[in-house]
Amino acid sequence: MAKKAQKIVIDSKMCKGCHICISVCPHAVLEKANEVDNRGFFLPIVADLEACKVCRLCEMECPDFAIAVVSDE
Ligand code: SF4
Ligand code: SF4
Repeated sequence: MAKKAQKIVIDSKMCKGCHICISVCPHAVLEKANEVDNRGFFLPIVADLEACKVCRLCEMECPDFAIAVVSDE
């Protein structure tokens, strides 16, 4: 059975809004927030959790270990 993501957790203290995770995601799961956080960063947000295939590219490419995909596997 195909893996499904239960949630994607973005650590708002670790993330610096570089958007590498958005760029590497092959399924357009993530997008840029409309508003800056209290540090002035546009954090990624989960736009389409259902589309996530749990490939974990976002986790592997994040330079700050700030994103984690929780799956049902
Ligand atoms: S695990 Fe893969 S499909 Fe899911 S958000 Fe990360 S890069 Fe996209
Ligand atoms: S790659 Fe990591 S640090 Fe960059 S925006 Fe995504 S979660 Fe934040």
